[in-house]
Amino acid sequence: MPVVDLRDIEPEARLEADVCVVGSGPAGSTIARELAGERCRVVLLESGGIERDVNVDALNEVENVGQPRVADQWLVRNRMLGGSTKTWTGRCAPFDDIDFETRDWVPHSGWPFVAQDLTPFLVRSAPYLGIGAGAGFTTDSFWTLSGRRKSTPDLNDDLLVPFFWQFSKDASNRFDYMRLGKNLQSGAAAAANVILNATVTHINTMDTGSCVQSVEVRDRGGAVRTIHTPRLVLCAGGIENARLLLASNRVISRGVGNQNDLVGRFLMDHPRGRVGHFNVESSEALQRTLGVYNVKTAAGTHRFRHGLRLSPVYQRQHELLNCAVWLNEVVTKDDPWNALSRILRGTGSLIKDCGFVGSNLGMIRRGLKQFLVDGNGLPRKLERLELECIVEQRPDPESRITLSDRKDRYGIPIPRINWKISEQEQRTVRMLGRLVEAEFKRLGLNELELDSWVVNDEKFPPAFQDVAHPTGTTRMSADPKAGVVDANCQVHGVHGLFVAGSSIFPTSSHVNPTHMIVAMAIRLADTLKRQLSSGLR
Ligand SMILES: Cc1cc2nc3c(=O)[nH]c(=O)nc-3n(C[C@H](O)[C@H](O)[C@H](O)COP(=O)(O)OP(=O)(O)OC[C@H]3O[C@@H](n4cnc5c(N)ncnc54)[C@H](O)[C@@H]3O)c2cc1C
Repeated sequence: MPVVDLRDIEPEARLEADVCVVGSGPAGSTIARELAGERCRVVLLESGGIERDVNVDALNEVENVGQPRVADQWLVRNRMLGGSTKTWTGRCAPFDDIDFETRDWVPHSGWPFVAQDLTPFLVRSAPYLGIGAGAGFTTDSFWTLSGRRKSTPDLNDDLLVPFFWQFSKDASNRFDYMRLGKNLQSGAAAAANVILNATVTHINTMDTGSCVQSVEVRDRGGAVRTIHTPRLVLCAGGIENARLLLASNRVISRGVGNQNDLVGRFLMDHPRGRVGHFNVESSEALQRTLGVYNVKTAAGTHRFRHGLRLSPVYQRQHELLNCAVWLNEVVTKDDPWNALSRILRGTGSLIKDCGFVGSNLGMIRRGLKQFLVDGNGLPRKLERLELECIVEQRPDPESRITLSDRKDRYGIPIPRINWKISEQEQRTVRMLGRLVEAEFKRLGLNELELDSWVVNDEKFPPAFQDVAHPTGTTRMSADPKAGVVDANCQVHGVHGLFVAGSSIFPTSSHVNPTHMIVAMAIRLADTLKRQLSSGLR
């Protein structure tokens, strides 16, 4: 696969592509790899390079005017080859059935297809994400998949139901999550031309704005090139997709695809944080039950985590959002497994770490049995055992990205972010916390001590910030008055312009977005393949 720097392409060369993809994260790289077998010219443009660069990071600057958000953008998005998989933590799961439904208590909810329509694409997403099964593992179906006896506590399933996440594994390092940058370098997107340090700064359309023609790209020094293409796919992430459409305003002043003033609206993320804690002393059994499971699949051994979510019945009855909880193990400084890992990686203080391992040999022995024989996660030396939650956001048109008066070094306005959190999210989390407390008490399980903000019906504490999941800013709807892209991910009213990534999700679920991003990207790649093979322009 040719990977070149934009600056190294001859200035006189005319740059053309049958499909031009902007952004090399999970969305863009999946589309490029899916199209690799087609007889077409695919160009994958990436704003960053192979290594992190502070000048490139600066292009991610934002102006925040809403709910407090993580200020350091590197912690929430990585502008380089492979996108944010440089630092992601690999948690994967598809959305629940209810997430696709039009729910009368969640305004603007509803997808233009049902959950089952996505299953074949979820199945195909597994190798891209480095997971063992692409579908059929988030519910009780996990027990069948894993061949294990069900160990979920006997909960009232009108209140709480089990939920399972699966962790990504890198193709070349089973101790790491899939890092796409490395894989792209080693040829995973063969047949696509990957152009690095190529920042798209304007989408050029016909004068009426109804058809894409080319993109303007800048190299590291700011020199401008044009890539001519009849099919442009924006995969620049949940913030940049909206920013690019809005900032492409030289001909159409409201921005491309923004005829209904919807681009940038409905910004969601996932408020996430602690709702309470358990006493560490008596928690080993609980940690095993609601813990980590290693499961042998056809694609090798994969790691799953058992959690709980609010039942759809309870969501309907109480007009709540979708929400999940899991055990968050906060380990001590002398946790022997962390010490062992530091010794193996050659980091940290060898003498100190050998001491931590030596004084916890019993835990190491127990851990090896739990891991190798029982296929469970490792017992950890815990400082705290917390109950952590993650909640869906209510789609709100006033929660939005617009353009700031400030500009980046290429003269493109930076995004102004006005993120909002509603009372419905906060009520949902408080109610889920209380349900877990009551159900655990009823079953004689470990006592959950809820945090005071839950008990006193207060707002989220400041620790509930965005968690790198910007969603909804180019939302999908069959109705152009209700969404930016149609059911095929094409921007309403702009022929040949497509969007992929979490910005197209109309609702956010409680689930981390990347598994869905990849499945939806494969679905879009199939649409593009059909167009290419039928010779459609
Ligand atoms: C610390 C961290 C932990 C995470 N953990 C998880 C997790 O456990 N599970 C999960 O599902 N998700 C997780 N995520 C989120 C996950 O990384 C994203 O959902 C995913 O990477 C989004 O994929 P994408 O392709 O849409 O965008 P990105 O991965 O953000 O890729 C976008 C790409 O577009 C490029 N780009 C941007 N603007 C331009 C431009 N103008 N021109 C050219 N290129 C451009 C960027 O450089 C980047 O490479 C995590 C993220 C972070 C930062």
